Amino acid sequence: MLNTLANWNELEDQHSSGTYIKRDLQVVRGEGARLFDETGRSYIDLVGGQGSANLGHANPAIVEAISKQAAELITCPELFHNPVRARYQAELCRVSGFSRVFLANSGTEANEGALKIARLKTGRKGIIATMRGFHGRTMGALSATWEKNYREPFLPLIDGVVHVPYNNIDKLKEALNENIGAVLLEVVQGEGGVHPAQAGYLQAVQELAHANGSLLIIDEVQTGWGRTGSLFAHWQDGIQPDIVTVAKSMAGGIPMGAILLSEKIGTLDPATHGSTFGGNPLACAAGLAALGEYTKLTHQHAEETPPPSPLPELKEGEQYVHREADGDMVRRARKLGDEVRLHLMDNAPEKAVREIRGRGLMFGIELRNKVAPVLKMLQERGVVALPAGPMVLRLLPPLVITDEDMWQATHIIEETLNDAF
Ligand SMILES: *Cc1c(COP(=O)(O)O)cnc(C)c1O
Repeated sequence: MLNTLANWNELEDQHSSGTYIKRDLQVVRGEGARLFDETGRSYIDLVGGQGSANLGHANPAIVEAISKQAAELITCPELFHNPVRARYQAELCRVSGFSRVFLANSGTEANEGALKIARLKTGRKGIIATMRGFHGRTMGALSATWEKNYREPFLPLIDGVVHVPYNNIDKLKEALNENIGAVLLEVVQGEGGVHPAQAGYLQAVQELAHANGSLLIIDEVQTGWGRTGSLFAHWQDGIQPDIVTVAKSMAGGIPMGAILLSEKIGTLDPATHGSTFGGNPLACAAGLAALGEYTKLTHQHAEETPPPSPLPELKEGEQYVHREADGDMVRRARKLGDEVRLHLMDNAPEKAVREIRGRGLMFGIELRNKVAPVLKMLQERGVVALPAGPMVLRLLPPLVITDEDMWQATHIIEETLNDAF
């Protein structure tokens, strides 16, 4: 009797914890930026694994790397050396410009570790995070997450975390004092509604943090891996964080997280942190293949001085500088993202849309009413997308999405917004 859709879905609901509210859709297969249900119907995927599918589904480079590595060695704790891990860490440091890396398994875990490192390195317990910021769900990272519904049932969380308004330098200035070990924030607040850092904001944050003897920790769990049109989003802001946390798309969908450490942070004392699965060869092989995809340049790019974008958050000249490590896929994410965002600004129905925000292929469309019914209608029309809070429609398409699918989805979104409001 378990061969029908309803029965499988019921079976899943009977035995899972109940914490996830599931959509009425059974996903059985994916290819590129398309998802398929059990009947073979395909959907344009603007959920993108909640940001973990930048390389698309069934990416051949990832499939090959993990198949090969799985037959060789899957697990190998960091009590031993391993050549795949060695190569991956070296490549990650070379490409990112950081000097050391701690490998973990998720975003929250990367932030958890970063908070510990801030205490270790500064001897200070205070952390400044931002309102609407999201850093994960484990107790430490949750302390830095803003959303009250996520935090309140679990109080007391760790001591000494204060939240200041994002894009507000004066409030940060007021909050800094000699107890603050680190300032932790995103380059574009993702879960909090897709709010990008304004030009110059992160530079000012860095300057103030450093003048106060505090570390700057940038959470690139969602913005990393080409999402915003550069391999790491903070490259567009002209800053050099002391610590960067990454996860989501770093290993082509295989669970992985990392803490990137600058020269200034140096090394950690033995046994101050650890993880059983961290740095496992399967994830490292996937990570190495993923890096290869993100950095692949198959044709010469013209000297990078594209025409000034009319998008407000991309006006600063510095933001248009590509680093060598930005591959074709990443450069295209910026171009296609700008084109789609501009198109939406001109064409999305005003009766439905309050504001359109984002960078690269990270979009936030703030609606004049609840997003939930819009998501449902989109799904019926063959497009799956995300919310970011109750009023914002969030799009995180795989960077490999075809032009055709991206534009088709864009037109479906416009029509749907027209019909829904
Ligand atoms: C998703 C996310 C996290 C948490 O990552 P998990 O892998 O789900 O623990 C942390 N920070 C940001 C900015 C995120 O978007």
